Amino acid sequence: MRVRFAPSPTGHLHVGNARTALFNWLLARGQGGTYIVRIEDTDADRSTRESEASIVTDLRWLGLDWDEGPDVGGPRGPYRQSERLHLYQSYATELLNAGAAYHCFCTVAQLEAERQDALAAGRPARYAGTCRRITREQAEARIAAGERPAIRFRVPEERDVMFTDAVRGDVRFETDVIGDPVIVRADGHPAYNFAVVVDDALMEVTHVVRGEDHISNTPRQILLYEALGFTPPIFAHLALVLGPDHSPLSKRHGATSVAEFRAKGYLPEALVNYLALIGWSPRGSAAGRSGGDETELLPIDELARRFSLDRVGLSAGVFDEEKLAWVNRHYLKVADPLRLAELSVPHFIDAGVPMKPDARGLEFLAAAMPIASGSVDRLNQVPARLAFLFEYDLARTLSDAHMREELKSDSARAVIAALAEELASAARLDRDRFRAAANQIKARTGQKGKALFHPIRIALTGRAEGPELDLAVPAIDRGADLPISAGIPPIAGCRERASAFSEQILASQPKM
Ligand code: GLU
Repeated sequence: MRVRFAPSPTGHLHVGNARTALFNWLLARGQGGTYIVRIEDTDADRSTRESEASIVTDLRWLGLDWDEGPDVGGPRGPYRQSERLHLYQSYATELLNAGAAYHCFCTVAQLEAERQDALAAGRPARYAGTCRRITREQAEARIAAGERPAIRFRVPEERDVMFTDAVRGDVRFETDVIGDPVIVRADGHPAYNFAVVVDDALMEVTHVVRGEDHISNTPRQILLYEALGFTPPIFAHLALVLGPDHSPLSKRHGATSVAEFRAKGYLPEALVNYLALIGWSPRGSAAGRSGGDETELLPIDELARRFSLDRVGLSAGVFDEEKLAWVNRHYLKVADPLRLAELSVPHFIDAGVPMKPDARGLEFLAAAMPIASGSVDRLNQVPARLAFLFEYDLARTLSDAHMREELKSDSARAVIAALAEELASAARLDRDRFRAAANQIKARTGQKGKALFHPIRIALTGRAEGPELDLAVPAIDRGADLPISAGIPPIAGCRERASAFSEQILASQPKM
């Protein structure tokens, strides 16, 4: 088995195309096949190397490695269509020689006028065949005189083209509705339908798995396979990925590219697992349904082991970001904290917490990670969960009317004063030392439960709500001990926080 993913480098990798890439990958990896990436960059106006690089980056980020492709090479290369122009030329010449193709001298204006006439008369807008009868000699003479024709494929008349799609079953087209397609444009560049056939044939692709938007191209391609003497591959057309309103997923629906989902803080394994579930189900039923089911949470290798085209559903799948978030939460919980720490760095920077952590800084973030990773949907929510570490703003806390209200009581103020005294000479707090200190404060003030811990929380984190103090307090004090070289912004320790807080409170209300 040889399969390929053939992106046109005209933008970022759309999640719908990423799903096509994934299904090809799963098929190849599940069956010991070969996975090829081919860059379809014959549209010189729209293709860019930047886009190719970003698609390659996104595919690698998703973990969809390939055996043959533009950067890794392989025995059937080159893998960029712009480097294969000589091949298309030579096969086009072969078709011309066999009379299966002809030169077309029609101008754009002429074709457009014919198209408008056809539409007005209610006929299908297909090529009228104007240049079909120009002989090879006449054509050569006109070329010698300086004209630049396109080359069209002569579609056989009155024939049905049939194929058995591995997803959709038998598909039939009549050739009467197919106008002779251009296979090489006047500028010498091959048209998609031609290049794709030459490439898939020469690269010995056995299964073409692609979006349903290409199904109407398939009969032309099958006719070209026949004319060139190649055996067509097995085709499988995947239903498109839709937005919530059941139109194809597009910018109007929000994020559509893999890069955008990465920037939002989804893990690649979550996006892969989720994309696999759009229109396919590991259980063989209920494909594409929404709502979480633990049995659908499978790592990529297991997905590959279970994947088969006959379980791909016919109906389009709706992209459901809530379900993606549910999958992501699972992977955040099981991911290595050190990896999550590394992946979180850009999100901290975006959130206004500049950092360049070294190994020790990353270790510190990793130790704090469980405070956040169990309760967020995405990595870009981690900085807010850990804001108590980096954003401790005494003046702002004390100027907040709600906080002032919470700290009004004598008992709250007594707890804070006791906290400051208790920590004044204490070592940095780990969990046990924090519990011991809390017990001392309890004994000194007679406060317990919420009346004890709420003022402590406000004084140490600057917030009325947040993660468990048993986790937050040791994280703060680990941060306070970091050297500058750790690359983490300075973090005030619990001792310093408590003493400044208590001083401010006493100063602001001297009656205590
Ligand atoms: N370059 C085409 C696309 O991106 C590939 C179509 C195909 O897989 O044949 O849509």
